[in-house]
Amino acid sequence: MNFELTPEQQTFCDAVRGFAEKHLLEGALARAHDPAYSWDVARLMAAQGLLGITMPEADGGQGGTLMDAILAIEAVAMVCPKSADVVQAGNFGPVRVLAEYGTPDQKERYLRKILRGESLICVGMTEPEAGSAVTDLKTTATPDGDGYRVNGVKVFQTHASYAEVMLTYVRFGPGVGGIGSVLIPREAPGFRQGAPSRFVNGDEWVQTYLDNVYVGPENVLLKEGGFKKQIAGFNVERIGNTARSLALGRYCYEQARQWALTRKQFGRLLAEFQGIQWKFAEMKVKLDAGQLLLYRAVVNADKGLPSAEETAVAKAYCNQAGFECCDEAMQIMGGMGYTEETLVEWCWRKCRGWMIAGGSIEILKNRIAESVFERSFSQRPPKTDK
Ligand SMILES: Cc1cc2nc3c(=O)[nH]c(=O)nc-3n(C[C@H](O)[C@H](O)[C@H](O)COP(=O)(O)OP(=O)(O)OC[C@H]3O[C@@H](n4cnc5c(N)ncnc54)[C@H](O)[C@@H]3O)c2cc1C
Repeated sequence: MNFELTPEQQTFCDAVRGFAEKHLLEGALARAHDPAYSWDVARLMAAQGLLGITMPEADGGQGGTLMDAILAIEAVAMVCPKSADVVQAGNFGPVRVLAEYGTPDQKERYLRKILRGESLICVGMTEPEAGSAVTDLKTTATPDGDGYRVNGVKVFQTHASYAEVMLTYVRFGPGVGGIGSVLIPREAPGFRQGAPSRFVNGDEWVQTYLDNVYVGPENVLLKEGGFKKQIAGFNVERIGNTARSLALGRYCYEQARQWALTRKQFGRLLAEFQGIQWKFAEMKVKLDAGQLLLYRAVVNADKGLPSAEETAVAKAYCNQAGFECCDEAMQIMGGMGYTEETLVEWCWRKCRGWMIAGGSIEILKNRIAESVFERSFSQRPPKTDK
């Protein structure tokens, strides 16, 4: 067992940190308060090789590891927390599912542009009546000629206002086995979005209506039976979400540490009060523990042993720990921490959302409990004979 980064990983981290300090430090505050996707940052990152880090070079990626992508998130977030969203969008979640399961033609049409920082893909899983119980989704794909007609409503998709294409979970047939996914470009006839609304973190979300949208066979990603593969891809989304939670918690910890080393009250530095020192000690324990859980899940996934349990443990812990570190940092920074003059309040709002998104902490704990007792626990009401 070795808890050090390799020399290559350290060099990579230093290079990404240098890139972030040169290009992203200036304007970090304004960027966070702008709800728009940071296209300028996406193009800079594409040129720097920070999009598609884990994807094959033949697909326009970098041929790196999941650990490299996590290190990139961490290095970028310490300089410009909002830009970590761009690393996420170009490496985790729907883009990974597309890279993993897309046909060469689908990758040619959608993936390459995303990896050049010129396009975005969003994922439409959640529906008004299917949130945590995602397999209750009602969006249907019914055969029409060579393709399908898709009807349904999706909510809460990150980047839905800016994405060129939506990886849409659909139902080809009944039950979990009937679920698969299709790629729907936003210009498809019948694809319509409602008025934009805002999450607490400032990001926009829109309701997407799919009214008899025709999807040709060339845009089917995973047919019925594809749900397990999609969720395996989604575990990687969870790892990115986990990394950002912890990274933003660490960013706030560092902001508060600098504050405590300069701000004086009662004629002494805040850092000299034991009540403040203990807050830092507790934050450090949480950040270190979270880091180890995150790296365990990532290193094992890179070894070809991705574990839903390890990912759930890491995400449940880091979502909570990241938020608590932002919260304590805000407290330590007093009135200033509660203003929009620093990014602490933004990180606090952002981390709060990850406790709900991508498998809420409660749903992850259900998953962990199944590992603890080595059996599944149906969340559905018991069946009656009537
Ligand atoms: C910031 C953000 C970004 C998002 N991005 C996307 C996206 O890109 N694409 C997408 O499709 N969706 C996205 N979502 C939606 C997200 O996946 C859902 O909000 C999430 O799955 C929870 O569903 P729900 O909101 O319907 O809450 P519900 O499922 O109604 O749950 C409400 C509460 O009950 C708890 N709960 C539910 N079932 C159980 C149970 N069995 N045991 C214990 N507790 C339970 C939940 O944990 C939660 O606290 C995003 C959400 C947020 C907040």
